[in-house]
Amino acid sequence: MKRDFTLSQYRALCEAILAKNWPILTFTQYLSASSAQCVILLRHDVDRWPNNALAMAKLEHDLGICSTYYFRATSHVFRPEIITAIASLGHEIGYHYETISTTKGNVEKARDLFASELSRLRAHADVKTACMHGSPLSAHDNRILWQHCTPRDFGLLAEVSMDLGTTPFLYFTDTGRSWNSRGTNLRDYCIGARSIDVSTTEELIDLLPSLNMPMVIQTHPERWNQPGHRFWLYWLIDHAALAAKFILRTFRKR
Ligand SMILES: [Zn+2]
Repeated sequence: MKRDFTLSQYRALCEAILAKNWPILTFTQYLSASSAQCVILLRHDVDRWPNNALAMAKLEHDLGICSTYYFRATSHVFRPEIITAIASLGHEIGYHYETISTTKGNVEKARDLFASELSRLRAHADVKTACMHGSPLSAHDNRILWQHCTPRDFGLLAEVSMDLGTTPFLYFTDTGRSWNSRGTNLRDYCIGARSIDVSTTEELIDLLPSLNMPMVIQTHPERWNQPGHRFWLYWLIDHAALAAKFILRTFRKR
């Protein structure tokens, strides 16, 4: 069996996506399109290791694919030279916000922080969409912000984990080192989307030809490494996170 969550496997997934011959759109392209049809949206949440995002962006560019990269504003992720390099390859840059968990639930401070982080990101790219960082180990859900304001207040078209319009979407995420494992995924999902349980990337590749609904495929580029020490380091991080999430889920049910 092939080792999963390598860049080679990601390339194989992209080739299977291309074989469907459906439009592959960025989120802004989709939200600006006049008609909903069979489309594929590739969403990348850059939670850490931004160089991995650049490698993935180059791979997609080589294949003629444009996708969307959501950047956190943390010091180790917010790397202007990487953000501009990815944007220059034709990809969309979005804002991966976590201001409610950063401010520990203080909505006023979270709104101000959202505005200032978004403006910092906009100094390097045209940002029209945002999506929340799951902050799985925080007690705060970052979407609480939207009980007090709207994405349009910040000149955004949408918060894409909450509002992709009325068209039903299939949603696949690599969170938990499988695809759609709700047992290990506390907050990385898309409201209103449907899911199919798929374990490996190879299974997803095999399933793709039979799928006939628009879909969002979400990855975390830091998870995708060629075999070597970074592959095993992230494998360890993933398994530690899975254990922590299992404990949290058990605790929150009580
Ligand atoms: Zn995230």
